[in-house]
Amino acid sequence: MYATLLDGTEVAAATKDALRPRIESLAASGVAPGLATILVGDDPASEVYVRNKRRTASELGIVDVHHHLAADVTQGQLEDLIDRLNEDPAVHGILLQLPLPAGLDGEAAVDRIDPAKDADGLHPENLGRLILDRPGPTPCTPSGILRILDHYEIRTEGAHAVVVGRSFLVGRPLAVMLGSRSRNATVTLAHSRTRDLPDLVRTADIVVAAVGQPRLVTRDWVADGATVIDVGINRTEDGLVGDVDFDSVSERAGAITPVPRGVGPMTIAMLMENTVSIAERRA
Ligand code: NAP
Repeated sequence: MYATLLDGTEVAAATKDALRPRIESLAASGVAPGLATILVGDDPASEVYVRNKRRTASELGIVDVHHHLAADVTQGQLEDLIDRLNEDPAVHGILLQLPLPAGLDGEAAVDRIDPAKDADGLHPENLGRLILDRPGPTPCTPSGILRILDHYEIRTEGAHAVVVGRSFLVGRPLAVMLGSRSRNATVTLAHSRTRDLPDLVRTADIVVAAVGQPRLVTRDWVADGATVIDVGINRTEDGLVGDVDFDSVSERAGAITPVPRGVGPMTIAMLMENTVSIAERRA
């Protein structure tokens, strides 16, 4: 292993530590930040994600408001719940765990969340604010990736960043953030129709893989010394693996995130940060 390990657990711990005094100061002014999580159905991966988010909230003293709805809930019932949480003054942030079970419209449900309570930063209004470089909650996984780069002092200014995967959850907002006037990377957003993907990735100073294909990115795709961020979470016979072949790529990369203990913990930490920031704006 030659690459520097970008330890998401360590960065998440620092992020949470920085939140503690902010939560204490809110408490001193009589405000307890509240995060409402909504889980629909019984997808085991979603259950784990929501459990970890709730546990982290409780550890930090963020009030945990949880709703677990059956998979056969109607769209109307789900949206009624979101309406109630929008109105509830004890709830500052709302997180709807995606994807929803078949038959439910996740986009319409996210649209229903009050943009001012959108702890996940995925409401269309907040994604619009992101493009316009205006303040507001930003999507947690891309923000967490930027926080890892900052923590390890990896410069984005002038760097060529190749983001593989264009989901609205990760790749697309991350490409916008990396290319913003505050980050100044030159960004290529790649996807399943990109031609000669390995050749393209080899030109990158920073590679982000957000694809959902186990170990897609191998050693020969990566330039010497490149920074490699692995967003993928794939359940395989070998256990949890990322989109990057960690063992081979870490022989060539300059820095690399592992899976687990890489981007995942940062997604949760940034959700907590968004919730606290929303509570501060309302205090
Ligand atoms: P997604 O919505 O399924 O999007 C996958 C993207 O990858 C699409 O843009 C797709 O291209 C592209 N793609 C698929 N196969 C490809 C290939 N062979 N070559 C190049 N591009 C390819 O996925 P997502 O929600 O962004 O999630 C991606 C991965 O990250 C998943 O493993 C997910 O579990 C993980 N994830 C982790 C976290 C975390 O906190 N660590 C958070 C979110 C997601 P097209 O657009 O052309 O179809």
